[in-house]
Amino acid sequence: MTMPWTVRGVGIITATALMVSLAVSRAPSLAAAAPTLRESGDLTQLVLAYERSLPWRNSDGYKWDESSSPRQARTIADAAVTARHGDLAAARRALAPYGYDLVEFTHTGIGGGRHLVLRERPQANGKRARNWGLYVLNQKPRARDLAFEAPHPQFDTHTPEMNIDGYLRGGAALFAMAGTHRYANGKPGDNPYELSLDSDMAREPDSLFQQMHESLTRKSTDVVQLHGFARQGGNSENSQCEDVVLANGAARPSSGEPDRPRPGLRQVADQLRLRLLSTTVWPDSTSCPLGATSNPQGKFTRGIGGRFFHVESERAVRDSPEVRAKVVDAVLCALLGIKGRSGGPLTRRRESVGRRCTAPSGRCSGAEREAGEDSASRADAAHGP
Ligand SMILES: [Zn+2]
Repeated sequence: MTMPWTVRGVGIITATALMVSLAVSRAPSLAAAAPTLRESGDLTQLVLAYERSLPWRNSDGYKWDESSSPRQARTIADAAVTARHGDLAAARRALAPYGYDLVEFTHTGIGGGRHLVLRERPQANGKRARNWGLYVLNQKPRARDLAFEAPHPQFDTHTPEMNIDGYLRGGAALFAMAGTHRYANGKPGDNPYELSLDSDMAREPDSLFQQMHESLTRKSTDVVQLHGFARQGGNSENSQCEDVVLANGAARPSSGEPDRPRPGLRQVADQLRLRLLSTTVWPDSTSCPLGATSNPQGKFTRGIGGRFFHVESERAVRDSPEVRAKVVDAVLCALLGIKGRSGGPLTRRRESVGRRCTAPSGRCSGAEREAGEDSASRADAAHGP
């Protein structure tokens, strides 16, 4: 397989991989041989290649054992925290028995930067043992207190690249992507599959994905999940939804639960509308069901008083590279005051990250002009299936 990035240290991987695989079942001390892995390339391409390799729907590829997996997930998440604090050798040793590599990755694409990639290693048969996901930590000392999460690769088309785009352009601290299709172990209600929620990281509360979320974010962290839905061909109720639906996962006020503020969501909505995307903040539109009220990452973040941004984009929005970039632009502009690249692809590195969004009231300077220029293509993109 040709990889769009370069690898150093591979020479010792093959020999060491055998030792590590032995370490899983026999002698944890052999994990001390965990190699240092350094790679460089385009982080977006790494994420997309990983997405293509994930177990598909009904593959039964997600492996979770109630008796041992919760403890293993906690150990892996603890190792991620250790890595974030800079002790990479200790993190590598802790991760190795569970098949996770810690890769020191130099991103050569727009924005550059050094990142730590926690990546599950394929076994001798080419398959990963657990498929618990891919995690990227920003090594920049002043990475923003911001996380982008992609719980639904493969199913929510183009959301891995949207989330890694947000991570890179926002200079975020964390990117997380699930390790399988959400229905790898079956969809709830689809016989004969009984595992239902196991493989759906935005439903199942007990997973490495959740452990990473809880260990690597805090009250001050803005957590963004860019999801996707379709007005046609899926849940018929979705046909009532706007182009973009924002939620923080809190229940409807009418549910009997106390009404909770939805901090920041309306600022994001304003930015999306400036880009001519029809937008609603759930549950303002009572007929649209996309409230994310059972999302465990949202529950955790709301529970500690943090801000959770669940962003559902319609299929036509995601199918256009220019329009899906506007969604990321709107989020970054509202949360960070960073001007995005809606005007077109960037060709110069200095333009990529950190251009300020200077207009008052959360408006990006130039946003209206960009929206006006792109209105024709936007209209085309919004109304196809
Ligand atoms: Zn989703």
